[in-house]
Amino acid sequence: MDTDTDTRNAAESGGKRRESLDTTAARGASRFEPATGAISTPIYQSSAFRHPALFQSTGFDYSRAVNPTRTELERTVALLESGKYGLAFATGMGALSALIKLYAPGDHIIVSEDLYGGTYRLFTEYYEQYGFSFSWVDTSDTAAIKESLRRHTKALFIETPSNPMMKVSDIEACADLIHRHSPGAGLIVDNTFLSPYFQNPLALGADVVTHSGTKYLSGHNDTLSGFIVHSRDDLEDPLRNIQKSEGASLSPFDAWLTLRGIKTLALRMRRCEENALHIASWLRAQPLVERVFFPGFPDHPQYALSRAQSRGFGGMISFYVKDRAAVPVILKSVSLILFAESLGGVESLITYPLEQTHTAIPETMRLKAGVNDRLLRLSVGIEDKHDLVADLDAAFRRWDPR
Ligand SMILES: *Cc1c(COP(=O)(O)O)cnc(C)c1O
Repeated sequence: MDTDTDTRNAAESGGKRRESLDTTAARGASRFEPATGAISTPIYQSSAFRHPALFQSTGFDYSRAVNPTRTELERTVALLESGKYGLAFATGMGALSALIKLYAPGDHIIVSEDLYGGTYRLFTEYYEQYGFSFSWVDTSDTAAIKESLRRHTKALFIETPSNPMMKVSDIEACADLIHRHSPGAGLIVDNTFLSPYFQNPLALGADVVTHSGTKYLSGHNDTLSGFIVHSRDDLEDPLRNIQKSEGASLSPFDAWLTLRGIKTLALRMRRCEENALHIASWLRAQPLVERVFFPGFPDHPQYALSRAQSRGFGGMISFYVKDRAAVPVILKSVSLILFAESLGGVESLITYPLEQTHTAIPETMRLKAGVNDRLLRLSVGIEDKHDLVADLDAAFRRWDPR
C-alpha cells in the first residue's frame, strides 16, 4: 500500500534529470538572495521601491503589485506545480476571488458538489447574483460532468480528493472533456488536499491550479495564503492585473512564513501520509466507526486512479461514527488532537464539517454529498502515530466505556 518515496519524485525526462520536488521545496526558486547571499529570503517589508530615474525601475514599484519576498514564493510554488506562472494571495479565498474574475456574467461553471464550503459560499452568495451560473456535480463521475455541460460552460472546477468525502476525480479525463467541449473552456483544480508534493494537475492537463497555502504549503497553522499556478500565457496578464487591482496580494511577512513552511513540505507530506495510513486502518477496526473515507485504502472506489494520477494519498481522513451522540464526546475528549477547523499543519486537527467547514452548503446538497451529522474529518499531523491513536482511543472510550 505504501508508495515508493525514493523514486516517485526523481523523474528522469528525456535524458535531462528533473530536479526532485524534495530539493525544490527545501531550496526554493533562487537558492539564495543574490544581493547579499542571504540563505533565507529576506522579508522585504517595504510598501514602495525607489526608481533610479524617470522611466527606470528596479522591477519593483509598489508592493500590492509586486514584492521581492512574494515573487520568490510565487516562483517556488510555480516550480513545485510544474507551472510557468504563480500568483500569491492573502488567502486561498483571495486566490479564488481573483480567478473567478477571468469569467463574465452569463458564463456557466461546473463545480465539484463536495468541496470546501467557503468556495460554495463565494460562488452562490456573490457570483450567482452577478449573473454567473454553477452546476454542482459529483465530478468523480465523468458521465455526470458530461450531462451538465452547456453551450456557455466555460470552466470545470474540481477538488480532488474532495472535501470532505475524499472522492477522487480523474484529472486527465476532466481536462479532456472540458477542452473537447469548447476550446476556450478550462479545467481548474483546487490542489490544497494533496499539495504539489503529491499531485501536479497541470502535468495532467489542467489549465489552472489553486491552493489554500494556509494548509500544507505553509504547514504550521500560523499563516494564511493562497495561490494560482498556471502555464497559460494568455491568462498571465489578466491575472496579474486582477491581483494588482483587487489588492488581495500576500504580505511580505506571510510570504516569508509560507516560504519557510515549504522548506519541509516533502518531509511533512510523507510523515502525514504515513500517519494517516496507520490511523485510517485503526479507525476502520473500531466498533464505533461505521465507515472511513481515505483514498489510500485499496478498496477505495478510486484507489487505482489515485495511484495513477498522484504520488501519495495525503493526510486527510473522514469517517462516520455510528452514533451521533458520540460526536460531541469525541470533540470534547481529544486532547492531543485539537478540535479546530483547518488542515494541513504539523498539528493534528479534528473537524465537524457539518457545523464548521460546510455550514454554507444547503442541507439537501450536503446530505447528497455525504456530509451528515455523524461525519468527522481528521487532518493528520506529524506527531507520533501511536500517540495519535492513543488520543483517539481514549476519546472513543469516553463515549463507550465498554
Ligand atoms: C481552506 C481551503 C480553502 C480556502 O483557503 P483560505 O486560505 O482559508 O482562504 C479553499 N479550498 C480548500 C480545499 C481549502 O481547504
